[in-house]
Amino acid sequence: MLKKPINDRFKITFAERKGAEKVVIGAVNRSILARKHEVILSDDDLELVKSFCISTIFLGAWGDFDCEVWELERDVCFLDGYSTINLRTLLISIDEVQFAIVCRAVQLLEWKKSHIYCGLCGNPTEIQGHENTVACIRCSKPYYPRISPCVIVVVTKGDYCLLARQLNWADGLFSAVAGFIEVGESAEDAIHREVYEEVGIHVRKPVYVGSQTWPFPSQLMLGFMAEATSEIITVDGKEISEARWWHCDNMPPSVPPPSVLSGLLIERFLTNAKGTANRKSG
Ligand SMILES: [Zn+2]
Repeated sequence: MLKKPINDRFKITFAERKGAEKVVIGAVNRSILARKHEVILSDDDLELVKSFCISTIFLGAWGDFDCEVWELERDVCFLDGYSTINLRTLLISIDEVQFAIVCRAVQLLEWKKSHIYCGLCGNPTEIQGHENTVACIRCSKPYYPRISPCVIVVVTKGDYCLLARQLNWADGLFSAVAGFIEVGESAEDAIHREVYEEVGIHVRKPVYVGSQTWPFPSQLMLGFMAEATSEIITVDGKEISEARWWHCDNMPPSVPPPSVLSGLLIERFLTNAKGTANRKSG
């Protein structure tokens, strides 16, 4: 039978609860095992796939269920009726809660696999208790799962917003400017630097809107709106192939959906710009 807590939030916890039933996600590298597009494995699935299981990690609590990921051998994909789905496809095909669980599963497995040895002295590491920490068996240096903070920003100028596209994106798709926060930088510093580096625009007053986990490969996106104080766009030609000012009534052919942080920021700009326009005409 398929066990699946509907409508419950997922909570990160570090220890299994006595007597709690389990739900399991199966991961093959950065893809998730699915049967008929269902990524939560049933008891029947688990019977079939358990011989392919390499390791498991506890993920947290999902309603009354405990949740864990099984790292599976690639050959599991040859089982009749099963396939793997990559994270980008899952981003738009499963609900927010399941996507958060899948993100955590894939990133914890990758972290564990890439910290088998100590980066300081080269000796093996071992898991510390129930926490997601490994430590060197010799020098005790601890290693924690790592996330990389990034800023993503919609730059505005009155009724216009600045959206850009990268060379490898689908035709017509434009989005917000984004980049990694450098060591020693605040999120606000990174916004000033990234926007100027990528499109040659100076900004002021960055306002924080929200954040989103982004497992490509392990970012935490911090979303902002910022006002431009200059107008002439100069694209860097490396990351950005084209950038333009878009009027709120004449937006690009394609922008990310509001379920993605960049899309949410664009929607925020449209709401603000059209609200201002209505107030002016009213
Ligand atoms: Zn060490």
